[in-house]
Amino acid sequence: MIRFENVTKRYKGTSKPALNNVDFEVLRGEFVFLVGASGSGKSSCLRMVLREETPSDGRVVVLGRDLRTLSNRKVPYFRRHIGAVFQDFRLLPGKTVFQNVAFTLQVTGSSRGYIQQTVPEVLALVGLDGKEKRLPHELSGGEQQRVAIARALVNRPQVLLADEPTGNLDPATSIDIMQLLARINGGGTTVVMATHEAGFVDQMQRRVIELRHGEMVRDERHGGYGDTSGLPSLAPQEERGAAAVAALTAVLEVQREAAAAAAAGLDPTAVTRDESSDAPAERETDPSTAPDAAAEASAPAIPPRPAPPTPTAPEPESEREPESDPEPQPAPVSHTQPIPVADIPEVDVAELGLADRLGLDRRDDDEVGPTS
Ligand code: ADP
Ligand code: MG
Repeated sequence: MIRFENVTKRYKGTSKPALNNVDFEVLRGEFVFLVGASGSGKSSCLRMVLREETPSDGRVVVLGRDLRTLSNRKVPYFRRHIGAVFQDFRLLPGKTVFQNVAFTLQVTGSSRGYIQQTVPEVLALVGLDGKEKRLPHELSGGEQQRVAIARALVNRPQVLLADEPTGNLDPATSIDIMQLLARINGGGTTVVMATHEAGFVDQMQRRVIELRHGEMVRDERHGGYGDTSGLPSLAPQEERGAAAVAALTAVLEVQREAAAAAAAGLDPTAVTRDESSDAPAERETDPSTAPDAAAEASAPAIPPRPAPPTPTAPEPESEREPESDPEPQPAPVSHTQPIPVADIPEVDVAELGLADRLGLDRRDDDEVGPTS
């Protein structure tokens, strides 16, 4: 799904590499914490996955694509398979919640009818029903992050990257966001989250990759945060502990609800946080191909777009990566499935200057900051 092969990154004008020989692979369906002190290289890793940065040495393979061979023209299409959320939300301040999410679909040429149907579905999934007409400044920080997550999910990406998504949120709100990310992962979306939040990492016992001064010093399947002595304490220790325990409880609760819904013959992918008994629906993904994490958690969640056959075929994936790789293939259309990318007229998002507005660019000068 994501492979770093001996990746070294040297930024211009710096003496020490930001990443030094980093080598790991993230598998489909995993939830991976990327931890390490500020400046250890977490964001650089995530930007590399988005191809916002390129390695000085080594290579990065994402969804079967060797990013060295991905032409600039293809980058916007590639990024549609990868959702990204950031500490500072990066919403469009003059647009409503609905418009912020719809915008992503508009630039990819989705029909009005499809947008009208899909945006409310995604907003419901992140717990924002009824808030469609609000502007970002009329929302709490946690709600703003939910909008950002909805926007990141609206194209049904296979991978969700989260760079310190709880960094601007209070502990209680952070729990909600963690719970949401766990649920998204439960639906099969691979999640890679850079974080300083030791409590969540310790409690969730997911895979942990630790960076120190750009070097990978740990890759543990069910890890904790590790040495927290270097962490700036942003909240009292008791509060952190309480937040983590509450987060875990919330995740377990969602998993129980999903199990109950599944036992009752409901589709766990069709339910939302507050609607676990609603709307029986056809299962859209073949359970036999569901990732382990999804099967394990069976949480109500948002299924990712099915893998495009060619670029995400099984190993060896990168070797078969041609220069003229096809665009992502159509996914089946249904009430919860997006319009196939192949049906969408080609619009170069980067050329239109829209990449940054979609949160695909690091510039965020015209966008709203945290309010909490
Ligand atoms: P983290 O997200 O873990 O805080 P970063 O990936 O942001 O770490 O940064 C890793 C190192 O690379 C830091 O020393 C940082 O100063 C440096 N760095 C990051 N981005 C740039 C850049 N665009 N130009 C020069 N140096 C950078
Ligand atoms: Mg960072």
